[in-house]
Amino acid sequence: MDAVSTESFAADVERLDAEPVNSVRLRQPLYAPRKKIFPKRAEGRYRTFKWIVMAITLGIYYLTPFIRWDRGPYAPDQAVLVDVASRRFFFFFIEIWPQEFYLVAGLLVMAGFGLFLITSTVGRAWCGYTCPQTVWVDLFLVVERAIEGDRNARMKLDAAPYTADKIGKRVAKHAIWIAIAVATGGAWIFYFADAPTLAVDLVKGDAAPIAYITVAVLTATTYTFGGLMREQVCTYMCPWPRIQAAMLDENSLTVTYNDWRGEPRTRHAKKAAAEGLSVGDCVDCNACVAVCPMGIDIRDGQQLECITCALCIDACDGVMDKLGRDRGLISYATLADYETNMRLAAGEDGRPDPRRVRQPDGRIFDAFARFNLRKLIRPRTFVYAGAWSLVGLAIVYGLLARDRLEVNVLHDRNPQYVVLSDGSVRNGYTVKLLNKIPEPRTIIVTLQGLRGAEMNVVGINQPADRAFAVEVEPDRLKTLRVFVRQPREHIAATSQPFRFVVEDKSSFETDTYLATFEAPEAAR
Ligand code: SF4
Ligand code: SF4
Repeated sequence: MDAVSTESFAADVERLDAEPVNSVRLRQPLYAPRKKIFPKRAEGRYRTFKWIVMAITLGIYYLTPFIRWDRGPYAPDQAVLVDVASRRFFFFFIEIWPQEFYLVAGLLVMAGFGLFLITSTVGRAWCGYTCPQTVWVDLFLVVERAIEGDRNARMKLDAAPYTADKIGKRVAKHAIWIAIAVATGGAWIFYFADAPTLAVDLVKGDAAPIAYITVAVLTATTYTFGGLMREQVCTYMCPWPRIQAAMLDENSLTVTYNDWRGEPRTRHAKKAAAEGLSVGDCVDCNACVAVCPMGIDIRDGQQLECITCALCIDACDGVMDKLGRDRGLISYATLADYETNMRLAAGEDGRPDPRRVRQPDGRIFDAFARFNLRKLIRPRTFVYAGAWSLVGLAIVYGLLARDRLEVNVLHDRNPQYVVLSDGSVRNGYTVKLLNKIPEPRTIIVTLQGLRGAEMNVVGINQPADRAFAVEVEPDRLKTLRVFVRQPREHIAATSQPFRFVVEDKSSFETDTYLATFEAPEAAR
């Protein structure tokens, strides 16, 4: 164990010289100068879970732009692509047009309900496991530990004067941090263009200036937030700790120091036992403080800074294992369970009395509440899960039911009509055909209604008719100038409704637009 100073107080457990940067005993003003934190490496089931989450989230972020997805010869083959030039978003087999942005809005609403659900059940799990700030700080710490060592070595190095060794380590650490930051910024822009092509262009200096500017900005923010500012981003900059406090209730899980079994704490458990004193399970070893990336002491109770990363649980479980005591002195617990247990453990003076917690054989009394998964299932979580599912179903329905062929028509305003020499009346229209699939298709445009009327299309060399065919390129909007002429004897009113019907004969997709045909009173 890498303690700076140790005092033997229990078999195999040493006290770490770790002070929280902010605590009940050493309460700092909010805007106090930063105290450096040197988190010790934790080991245990939560740390392992965090490594797995970290590998998955980083893998998804860095590799997704390089996944290919065949959409045929007329569409990009990048699985996830925000195609700014064509104003299109591609996500595997889904293609979203700007007018379908409601689908993205639906996904954001789902993300919101998902966050409410997660927070009301397992507290700040987002902060502790998947928030990019947490993941990148973890990654930067991996580099720092690999180069400078674990907590005590880093503290020693930090306090030491600059020597060739210290300068070399610092240069190596910051160089790798900057390389990670560049890769992070680079990966981001790969979502906005063909990733392999852009990667080559970036290296050759052929990419657009905006690409370099974006990479530079994201490199600077990643390096600053992940490497230099770390816990300060969570404590001072992020609004989420404030918002999530309003979402927790007495049945939400939070990382909790169970002082009902930990107090009174002592560093001299053996001596106390020899003197017949009853003491709690906490041996005041500070292992939980030493691993905390936020530099706090969970034994002070719930704190805004706590991101519920659960590393203090791992550290304390390790200590409990060494002492041969039950794990869970620090654990995920609900406020309701904690208060129940505190009531059960309270002695006459209102403080926890270890004799009310443990049976003579050392086991904790069965009456003490323990976490049960069923406690997370309650009306509130049902409401969130239901709302989340409903929005999800609405998105799926929206995706399946959306039109892939659309027609929009603008009637000429000036003039609204023209009376021709034979007495017939002509109206002009701008017809917009939207082909939303990545394949060319032949669209038949037909007049429906408007007795005796025919149309001509500018640029299509065919006699006036009630229908015409037009080729529309893949994923394109085609604009046509159409003139509709109705013989005088068929004009029934000054304003007659009729329809433009568009149809793709191969897929049987159709769309219609209700238009009006205007004529002067005198033409009737
Ligand atoms: S107190 Fe525990 S759970 Fe909270 S941030 Fe520190 S190590 Fe993570
Ligand atoms: S809570 Fe656990 S890790 Fe923290 S000081 Fe007490 S025994 Fe050590």
